[in-house]
Amino acid sequence: MATMSTHQPTNAEYAERAERVIPGGVSSPVRAFGSVGGTPRFFVSGNGARVVDVEGQEYIDLVGAWGPALLGHADPRVIAAVHEAVDRGLGFGASAPAEVELAELLVERLPEVDKIRMVSTGTEATMTAIRIARGATNRPLIVKFAGHYHGHSDGLLAAAGSGLATLSLPGSAGVTPESAAQTIVLPYNDEDALEAVFNERGSQIAAVIAEAAAANMGVLPPKPGFTQRMLEIAHKHGALVILDEVLTGFRAGPTGYWGIERDSVIPTQRPDLFTYGKVVGGGLPMAAVGGRADLMDLLAPMGPVYQAGTLSGHPVAATAGLATLRAADPAVYQRLGAAADSLTAAIAEAFTNAGVPHRIQRAGTLFSVLFGDFPESPSNYDQMQLQDTAAYGRFFHSMLSSGISLPPSAFEAWFVSASHDEATIAQIADALPHAAKSAAQADFA
Ligand code: PLP
Repeated sequence: MATMSTHQPTNAEYAERAERVIPGGVSSPVRAFGSVGGTPRFFVSGNGARVVDVEGQEYIDLVGAWGPALLGHADPRVIAAVHEAVDRGLGFGASAPAEVELAELLVERLPEVDKIRMVSTGTEATMTAIRIARGATNRPLIVKFAGHYHGHSDGLLAAAGSGLATLSLPGSAGVTPESAAQTIVLPYNDEDALEAVFNERGSQIAAVIAEAAAANMGVLPPKPGFTQRMLEIAHKHGALVILDEVLTGFRAGPTGYWGIERDSVIPTQRPDLFTYGKVVGGGLPMAAVGGRADLMDLLAPMGPVYQAGTLSGHPVAATAGLATLRAADPAVYQRLGAAADSLTAAIAEAFTNAGVPHRIQRAGTLFSVLFGDFPESPSNYDQMQLQDTAAYGRFFHSMLSSGISLPPSAFEAWFVSASHDEATIAQIADALPHAAKSAAQADFA
């Protein structure tokens, strides 16, 4: 009698199949486990704080889809809203109510944002913000900071942290020298360097772009007063400031990291344009650029700055973003902060006991763990690159084998969600002493 085959697929099989037809086997480089080694996991489902791979193995997730999973995976409110939207059709290439409601919600929550243009990725959002800045000022140059990641458009890939840091690449092949020459890269938190460059080339600079708090070289918030100095210097020279909140927006705090700064210093100057992504799409492709009406109205069809997108403002993605942001009440941020507090305390204890040199960096509810010996208060990319990636790799694999999925790169933030309750954090804490010992082992390879 013939028996039915019940072959259980494995992660290794999928990795092999993927490598045959997808460069590096991945749709985005850091997923390849390049810096930690081993076989990437292929996930089939997620619920709350947990994800499940093709082998049926469950993990507590600290990647959070790289940020969007603010509430946890498959939050019933978001899933129900998305089902309803999908049942009505998958987009019409025309305006739809969901994008209007999402734009209204964003404008209501973000005091400096009068208007919003929706796009599908953070890369498009920063690219569009820069085009608006150049269109508004009629100047060519952009200033960015080393280690800040703003997506993969040509002009923004110099010293861009994140995947490039993970792969130890200074920039990307395929970017022309002409395009790279339009971006001036400065050390972060260095107002003297910023002032010097503006004194020399200020009349040519359209904008400074910065992550509201850097989080793609490990988490590195601006030094107290730096954001205000950046605003003052840029504005004095007639340049704009674009604050990139693609990662920090609606995550570091309810109105992003700028919200935390704004509430703590009573700013005399405010950023001109903001970019958002990740949480604003609730897990679906949705991002946005927003800012002052006079700048935003430079966009076509109102003004001369062209920008467009077949899938922009997609009704299903806008619905997922709306449902996520509507659910993101004070209790959610309270939970994220408490989860970050208890997890970082457990990490500090386990690492100190095992003698693992480390430093924990916070920006609101966001945090990352730096492996290695660090100055008291690191402030720039050179210092953040001192991270001991080999120790991180050993730690990563020990945690993975205990059923905890961390970002496969030492340079990324760790993402908790509102579903990471104290019982979940306690489970992570149980795995820490053994993983800390693995991290502490000398690498004789
Ligand atoms: N800006 C920041 C601060 C980011 O963290 C990212 C992605 O991680 C981007 C821009 C690019 O967003 P996307 O990957 O959606 O293109």
